[in-house]
Amino acid sequence: MKNNCVFCAIAAGEIPCFKVHEDDLVLAYLDINPFTEGHTLVIPKTHTTGLLDTPPDVLGEIVKRVQKIAARLKTALPCDGFNILQNNGPAAGQTVPHLHFHIVPRLGSNTAADISFVNHAGDMDSLKTLAARLAF
Ligand code: AMP
Ligand code: ZN
Repeated sequence: MKNNCVFCAIAAGEIPCFKVHEDDLVLAYLDINPFTEGHTLVIPKTHTTGLLDTPPDVLGEIVKRVQKIAARLKTALPCDGFNILQNNGPAAGQTVPHLHFHIVPRLGSNTAADISFVNHAGDMDSLKTLAARLAF
């Protein structure tokens, strides 16, 4: 448990949450500022900050839980689909530096909750150059 980490405190039962699921590895609970009804956070009980400092095998196990919890939400809620969101770093909007996956249930009619990433038409030459630079 990391000092002053809100999600560690929730995992330790020191701060209450609206629990959806718990097992040996993860805790899932409702986000207190939901994007949509049923917006759920899935956190590992052991503190890591985000995607990059979490061991890959642990990450794989967490994602298996995310899949199970999303399936549960999809059948238990009015839910036509869902978004998985996982922010890394303040620049990406991460406000709580403890790894967490957002599961955001969506309804066909729920256009008001669109996530406000904005697309722009890609320049094909720039995309080709960038892909070549990033490829590994
Ligand atoms: P992020 O911006 O990806 O770091 O998301 C953090 C999320 O945690 C936000 O959506 C908050 O609403 C949510 N949150 C913060 N504190 C709590 C809490 N005590 N219980 C449930 N959700 C929380
Ligand atoms: Zn923590």
